[in-house]
Amino acid sequence: MSFAEIIGQPKPLAILRSALANGRLHHAYLFLGPEGVGKRAIALALAKAIHCAGANGDFCGQCVNCKRIGDGNHPDVRLVEPLAGRKEIAIQQIRDIEKELNYQSFTGGRKIVIFDRATLMNLSSQNALLKTLEEPPADSLLILIAANGGALLPTLRSRCLKVSFGPLHRPAVAQYLERNKQVKTEEAQFLAALSMGSLGLALKLNDRKLFEKRREWAALLGSLGKGDYRSGSDAAEKLAGNKDDALKFLEWAETFYRDLLVFAAVHSGDELINLDLLKQTQQLAGAVTVEKWLALFEQAVGAGARIQRNLNRRMVLEDLLFNVVGAR
Ligand SMILES: [Zn+2]
Repeated sequence: MSFAEIIGQPKPLAILRSALANGRLHHAYLFLGPEGVGKRAIALALAKAIHCAGANGDFCGQCVNCKRIGDGNHPDVRLVEPLAGRKEIAIQQIRDIEKELNYQSFTGGRKIVIFDRATLMNLSSQNALLKTLEEPPADSLLILIAANGGALLPTLRSRCLKVSFGPLHRPAVAQYLERNKQVKTEEAQFLAALSMGSLGLALKLNDRKLFEKRREWAALLGSLGKGDYRSGSDAAEKLAGNKDDALKFLEWAETFYRDLLVFAAVHSGDELINLDLLKQTQQLAGAVTVEKWLALFEQAVGAGARIQRNLNRRMVLEDLLFNVVGAR
């Protein structure tokens, strides 16, 4: 493993690698960007490159330092996240880090602390960390990771160099899934599109059963004829059985109506999420107006939110499917 094998994020990598090569790393960075696009992976890669015994300005992934960082037990590299069973990073964790940073490094290299996610620090924890950031111990490096900086104190943010991470490109995510997770091409493309450039999310969604289930759902929605309220009611009852399954269906239904909306608007399949359902999408897209697809998309989004709030599932689903039946 080396920097060259990391997928995407050319700009953050260029900023960090150049600072590393020129001995100009700052004491604190704030990595901002959506979930699952490589912020933690790149923070760990940087830590490896700083400590690697086998490569200069890069990391080998093989030496004892790289291995220990990868396993989470390098004495000079700490990953701070909430303790088991807790939702927040505790203030005591911050105080321990402050103490540790003032001890001598074990290996003679930089002491590195990665906060993932930094927004899990409450205000008192953030204030405690601020003291460390105001007078960073020599040879320390703090990396704060967050989806957005809004929940962090402005004083904390202003003491970190901001590095922005964008979504990954779809083909890069698909290629990664095919090569590293042995996912079939068609499925990899679907997952890459569905996850909107978040490899982390694509890996979570990599579920063979879900992939097949979607085809059943697509057939079900496609089979609901105009005015066929009876079938709509039957389908709602079937889908309402279990909360998780109902939510999965609705998450998918969002993508299905989004695809129909996109296809009806631009008459092209290039941007579809459910690429393997292109034919069905093509056939169905002209059945109603763009405005109606938009309305169904919004209703699917709303139905998911209502089920999250524990409203009666059969009623919520019937409401949506009756709109489907009525729209045709
Ligand atoms: Zn190494």
